[in-house]
Amino acid sequence: MKKLVSAGEIVVEIMADRVDQSLAEPGLLHGPFPSGAPAIFIAQAARLGQPAGLISAVGDDDFGHLNIDRLRDWGADVSAIAVHKEQATGTAFVSYRADGSRHFVFNIKNSAAGSIEIDEGAVALLAGADHFHVMGSSLFSERATSVILAGIEMVKRKGGTVSFDPNIRKEMIELPGMREALTKVLMLTDIFLPSGEELFIFTDAADEASAVTEMLARGISAVIVKKGSAGAVYYDRHRQVTAQGFPVTEVDPTGAGDCFGAGFVSFWLRGAHPEDALRIACACGALAVTRKGPMEGIATLAEVQAFLDDAIGRPSP
Ligand code: ATP
Ligand code: MG
Repeated sequence: MKKLVSAGEIVVEIMADRVDQSLAEPGLLHGPFPSGAPAIFIAQAARLGQPAGLISAVGDDDFGHLNIDRLRDWGADVSAIAVHKEQATGTAFVSYRADGSRHFVFNIKNSAAGSIEIDEGAVALLAGADHFHVMGSSLFSERATSVILAGIEMVKRKGGTVSFDPNIRKEMIELPGMREALTKVLMLTDIFLPSGEELFIFTDAADEASAVTEMLARGISAVIVKKGSAGAVYYDRHRQVTAQGFPVTEVDPTGAGDCFGAGFVSFWLRGAHPEDALRIACACGALAVTRKGPMEGIATLAEVQAFLDDAIGRPSP
């Protein structure tokens, strides 16, 4: 089976207890939960049985070990996650707003994650990789961007493929160099996985159809637009496939896009039809939102299949 690699931030996520809770004053918090978009993606891919590994860095602290243990327990290759003595593991504090948006306080660039590099472990992992997945949130510094571009280069040189989820929070888009880095990655992308407005970061097009046409004309093989509870739409040069979201009770939306992406890319790498890859992806995304904590809703392939069997037997709402 093809091996999938990503590079980027590992963090713990700590979330406010109440909707609209301020992070500027003391309050009840939940966590730490293992997190970081590329880590969630790799955990979900591994849980589906896809060979998958992550290039990252954590501190030699409880938060770092929590993440490494989780990834290892779930079958991911953790050989390229460096453990630093001098720096602490990254953190993301999040508070949910009543309108469904999220407010974050990040410590990533100045955490151990900021020291990410192509060391011996990373070179060895990339040597065995067939596919590289990029999370836009991982382009948080010049150094992290250079690691990702080097990873893409190594995988592409061997005839491998690249997927890209812009996954860009409003707190990050104006970071110096971010837009340029996102554009560079887009030029090297085979599978593009934007959610909602992210489709329009790279184009002046006014509607989804023309934006997608423009992306496909740039040489991207497939564009999959994620639409939260409404599901997702797949586009390539020949067809469009729409998947409805599965009805679930949303407890915590963080991580849905990462799990969705891992589901889609894992099955695309296995040569599945877009309809099938999309169905698995939507199931992974739907299951992800049913638990508090970005990785807690990650399901195994058997659990995803049981969920799909159950959903097919159930009349649509
Ligand atoms: P994030 O960046 O917060 O992880 P995203 O914005 O990248 O998420 P979403 O569109 O929110 O991605 O979610 C990805 C996919 O997960 C959706 O396309 C859908 O299939 C599934 N999904 C998300 N939320 C729900 C929900 N409430 N009910 C059912 N399915 C959902
Ligand atoms: Mg996302």
